[in-house]
Amino acid sequence: MLTLAVFSLLLHFAIQASSPLDQVFHYIDEHQDDYVQRLKEWIAIQSESGNPTKREDVIRMMQVVGEMIKHLGGTVELTDVGNEEFADGKIIPLPPVVLGELGKDPNKTTVGIYGHVDVQPAKIEDGWSTDPYLLTEKDGNLYGRGSSDDKGPVLAWLHAIEAFQALNQELPVNLKFIFEGMEESGSKGLDELLKEKNETFLSNIDYIVISDSAWLSKKPALTYGTRGLCYFLVEVQCANQDLHSGLYGGTVHEAMTDLIALLDSLVNSTGYILIPGIDSDVMPLTDEERVLYEGIEFNLEAFKRTLDITELLHKTKEDVLLHRWRFPSLSIHGIEGAFSGPGAKTVIPAKVTGKFSIRLVPNMDPDKLSSQVTTYLHGVFAARGSPNRLRVALEYGSKAWVTNFTDKQYDAGRRAIRKVFGTEADLIREGGTIPVARTLQHTTQKSVMMLPIGGADDGIHSQNEKLSRNSYINGTKLLAAYIAEISQF
Ligand SMILES: [Zn+2]
Repeated sequence: MLTLAVFSLLLHFAIQASSPLDQVFHYIDEHQDDYVQRLKEWIAIQSESGNPTKREDVIRMMQVVGEMIKHLGGTVELTDVGNEEFADGKIIPLPPVVLGELGKDPNKTTVGIYGHVDVQPAKIEDGWSTDPYLLTEKDGNLYGRGSSDDKGPVLAWLHAIEAFQALNQELPVNLKFIFEGMEESGSKGLDELLKEKNETFLSNIDYIVISDSAWLSKKPALTYGTRGLCYFLVEVQCANQDLHSGLYGGTVHEAMTDLIALLDSLVNSTGYILIPGIDSDVMPLTDEERVLYEGIEFNLEAFKRTLDITELLHKTKEDVLLHRWRFPSLSIHGIEGAFSGPGAKTVIPAKVTGKFSIRLVPNMDPDKLSSQVTTYLHGVFAARGSPNRLRVALEYGSKAWVTNFTDKQYDAGRRAIRKVFGTEADLIREGGTIPVARTLQHTTQKSVMMLPIGGADDGIHSQNEKLSRNSYINGTKLLAAYIAEISQF
């Protein structure tokens, strides 16, 4: 009897352990060193999109990605998106966008995957502990530029697919890939390409998934919104040349004094934006939404400790997160033309340009905001009675993105997280701006979900960027589980 019971128990486990997805997970575990090696090869390619001298590297990176998709049996088009022109008149080609396709079964769901393989610039002199382009493993972390943003996640997708294939399991979905090489430099050329391909390449995509962001805590997350951004320049000119304060101090209306007053009029000490009209454009917060924030895992004390800050603008976790994701914020970034070197120079700058930006949330419109800001600053300036010249300009504007996180795709994401991590997903937003999410959603009118695998402390865009081996490998499993889950819709 006992033997029979033990036998049936073992059989039960054997069946459980050998479910197709479990086999995929097992395969991923077994091949993790190969995945790290491949990431090392990708990190070695210095694909800095913002550095024109490295454009060849970005182009090579796009070819490497294309080759890998072909190797998986897909078809690839390295799509030309034109040239980039610089202020000095120099013109260089933009890296091609990789449009790839794997599987055309009309009975299967088609998933579009977006990612980018260009990186922010990095030099060891910036304060890296290791060579940013030599993937280095230390204490379970894989250090290297692009490890988390976004080469690691792109590779995780491709490895997940490879695992299905290696086990001779039929891929349960059709896949389309949109991999670009200009994300860190404003995704030049991408919007036009997506609009152009909406009736063709993009037309039969059912869901779009993006792995290009991070969790908020140690808890896995799905991201359903990002803030937009408006970047402003406010320029004040008082004379045709810089002046000496010994000769002119006390005689002229100084540009710097005006500018400081203008910048000071934008936001108060509680972080409240003083520009009239902004509040009324922000989508009102519902009770359901507030409840959602209560459940999110976020350690306020740890957040403060990491930054060495004793007090934040807001007291509770919910309010801090709401103001990070759900409400607009205004930040002052710098003053061009002002004296900022060491020493005590007594210059009166002739022309100074203040730089500030506002993070936008749903319902805010860059053009409307631009006119609100301009009207307000001209009003503040007029009240000062200064004869100086004022110019306010919107340098760059993009809207926020938010989507319905109760749709089928989010359900698939939640289930995949449960399967791999045995926990519920946190539903989060990004305080930053990832315009492609909005562009993809608005162009295709399809569900867009961000399914991040990176950690909150990965240091993307910063020195010592890393992706933990755990995030990389479990992330690969998560993407495989997502593929399995979404195929059922
Ligand atoms: Zn990124």
